[in-house]
Amino acid sequence: MNAIEFIERKFAELGDRTYGEEVTERQHALQSAYFAEMAGAGEPMIAACFLHDFGHFITGKDEMIADEGIDAQHEELGARFLARHFTPEIVEPGRLHVAAKRYLCAVDPEYLSGLSAASAQSLRLQGGPMSAEEVAEFEREPFWREALELRRFDDLGKEPEMETPPVAYFLAKLPPFLRDSAAPA
Ligand code: FE
Repeated sequence: MNAIEFIERKFAELGDRTYGEEVTERQHALQSAYFAEMAGAGEPMIAACFLHDFGHFITGKDEMIADEGIDAQHEELGARFLARHFTPEIVEPGRLHVAAKRYLCAVDPEYLSGLSAASAQSLRLQGGPMSAEEVAEFEREPFWREALELRRFDDLGKEPEMETPPVAYFLAKLPPFLRDSAAPA
């Protein structure tokens, strides 16, 4: 099984889980990616949006997740897997998507006041808005702007009823971003 087949299988097996608001994990991934596409974002951003919560689907027991990381946050666990198989442009914005929320809450009062109830609650568990030092540190991340862009699409992907292309449509966008020589899984 290659990485794309693994992703396909996880969406099939676990995509019906609820994302925590009014959509499933599958709907959330598809909508985030589709909002990116409709906004005219490039292929890397569309792919990054599709995969940004992939960490929700994996555990340390998966055969393709050979390393430690059972206690990792979902964005880190997902990125650790994805980075072995895909280029940073579609992995790093997702790795930073929870940090991006904490960043936006620190620098944009409107963003903070606009959080859904569930998102405001999880913000507390995630460490609350960033401190000034954390903001400066975040802005040194190579893909920090992309992470903020992804976060906006992520936040939109919560529509109970919305038509999107299927999982296969976004899986088909992934091959150009496969690493030439993926490290052993
Ligand atoms: Fe998300």
